[in-house]
Amino acid sequence: MFEIKKNIVLIQQRITKAAFLANRKSADIHLLAVSKTKPASLIREAFNCGINQFGENYLQEALSKQQELADLPITWHFIGPIQSNKTKEIAEHFHWVHSVDRLKIAERLSNQRPIKMAPLQICIQVNISEENTKSGCHPDQLIDLAKAIKQFPNLELRGLMTIPKPTDDIIKQKASFATLNKLKNDLNEQLTLSLDTLSMGMSQDLEAAIAEGATWVRIGTAIFGERNYN
Ligand SMILES: *Cc1c(COP(=O)(O)O)cnc(C)c1O
Repeated sequence: MFEIKKNIVLIQQRITKAAFLANRKSADIHLLAVSKTKPASLIREAFNCGINQFGENYLQEALSKQQELADLPITWHFIGPIQSNKTKEIAEHFHWVHSVDRLKIAERLSNQRPIKMAPLQICIQVNISEENTKSGCHPDQLIDLAKAIKQFPNLELRGLMTIPKPTDDIIKQKASFATLNKLKNDLNEQLTLSLDTLSMGMSQDLEAAIAEGATWVRIGTAIFGERNYN
């Protein structure tokens, strides 16, 4: 078998097994193939293996691959940090954004979403590892941000996303993901929402994420191999 085909089969087996162990339906766990730094030809190969959800982090790179792959019915997810001068093209060229972490970005995405398109599907990225200085809103800011996003007409708030501090300790992995799950449940209760999405789990920790309720796992390396940033 070709490498990508083999990798996808292995990932799907990991998802199925983790879902079984968590007493969950594997159909409730969606596979997002993270294709940053990888060429359009590999995305096409993965598409031919049955994957149609792809995640990208860098706007210019994503736009050029989208053009090359315009013949394929792919659902595109933006999952990287967002600068405000990038919101217009993100609003015009993606179906989902997993990495909204502040009001200004949400407001611009809503204003710039073309009205003939369906609402942009949104996850708020939350920073749950205190020592982690990366993107994501602080849990204390979550309620206000969710309230605001709910009011924007061209956004549909679906749930939460996180990238925890990497660790090999599955107990710690699970604790982070359980925290995100609880934040989602609290939001649903406090704002009477019905958020159904937890975007959490990558190549190294998808089992822990599925055990704690992930509905999207974002998998790069385990499908496409190591990334080379040169
Ligand atoms: C790169 C990336 C991934 C994929 O990570 P792997 O460890 O390669 O599976 C997932 N989510 C985000 C936000 C990423 O930037």
